[in-house]
Amino acid sequence: MEINSHKITVTKPFLPPKEEFNKYTDIIWESKWLTNNGPLHDEFEEKVSNYLKIGNACLFSNGHLALDIAIKALELKGEVITTPFTFASTTHAITMNGLTPIFCDIELETFNIDANKITDLITDKTSAILAVHVFGNPCNIIKIEQIANEYNLKVIYDAAHAFGVELYGNGIGNYGDFSMFSLHATKVFHSIEGGILSFKESELKPILSKYKNFGIADEENVELVGLNAKMNEFQAAMGLLNLKYIEEQIEKRKKITNKYRELLNDVEGIRLVEDMENVKHNYSYFPVTIDEKKFGLNRDKLYERLKEFNIFTRKYFYPLTSDFKCYNFDSRNLINAKLVSDNILTLPIYSELTLDDVEYISDIIYHLYSN
Ligand SMILES: *Cc1c(COP(=O)(O)O)cnc(C)c1O
Repeated sequence: MEINSHKITVTKPFLPPKEEFNKYTDIIWESKWLTNNGPLHDEFEEKVSNYLKIGNACLFSNGHLALDIAIKALELKGEVITTPFTFASTTHAITMNGLTPIFCDIELETFNIDANKITDLITDKTSAILAVHVFGNPCNIIKIEQIANEYNLKVIYDAAHAFGVELYGNGIGNYGDFSMFSLHATKVFHSIEGGILSFKESELKPILSKYKNFGIADEENVELVGLNAKMNEFQAAMGLLNLKYIEEQIEKRKKITNKYRELLNDVEGIRLVEDMENVKHNYSYFPVTIDEKKFGLNRDKLYERLKEFNIFTRKYFYPLTSDFKCYNFDSRNLINAKLVSDNILTLPIYSELTLDDVEYISDIIYHLYSN
């Protein structure tokens, strides 16, 4: 097989035309308002809420601090039932707030927390469920809501991957007490770095605003121990600009996804994730799981072999957060999570990835399978 001359990375951030960004920098130079709820911040907050079809939104400097503040605002105590199949942020946000993560196993189809296994983990210390819409695929929201109501638990969704996802035509941020969207450069939509909290109770807005600005209420009153997590005007400018392109971006990702599906569907030992019913997807990732017995190579070998062909994939999420060196929680019961984590690979996907590149990647995978 001929090796592609350019490196294909797992993702590449989208950048809008520079001239368009310059128009915003002119506005910023004119106003000299760089951060602290500037005009671009407020405009972005309104426009992005409309796009996400959410009622209440608050912007942050990044997704992680948004998640951290959601936990603080709900005044959670004790134990939080969560998933180990996620990015470090989810678990760190729990433990850094002095809470204990209780890990629940995941579903093999969606890689999301298995809602049917949550009830068994509830104790009198449980205060919340922190679930992740992994790769933008919605969790079993109905079941989670039912459990939360029955046991009086709060629900936070880490929707870092789920920007623009809709369920039954509703923005995914309308479920649970809080949803956190990450606007990091590597995500489907970005504001360089950034985060959004979508939330149910509008009275929470002033509390969130204080938390992200040192707890300051006004010049002489600091009402809570807050942090600094404000979105600045440059981030908001990038967000405003990228909103113009998001639909086009998702459309391109959908074409890439369909091309991969068409080309990889019949490769033995490669399992793909299907679209879900009643969901508008954002095609943020293209995960596959490898069955070594059928494919002939295990995930780690495939990952290494692909590098030889200039294709850089990610073992996303490996290891499980419960197995991180800084934690080492007992993960013996996390059977599905372990299985998925050991066999998953996310393939390159970003809006500017060409269909020829998708064909090349798929051909190489087929070549590695048949040899
Ligand atoms: C990216 C990500 C975060 C953190 O978001 P940042 O904006 O990078 O702070 C949290 N959870 C998940 C699942 C993520 O992928």
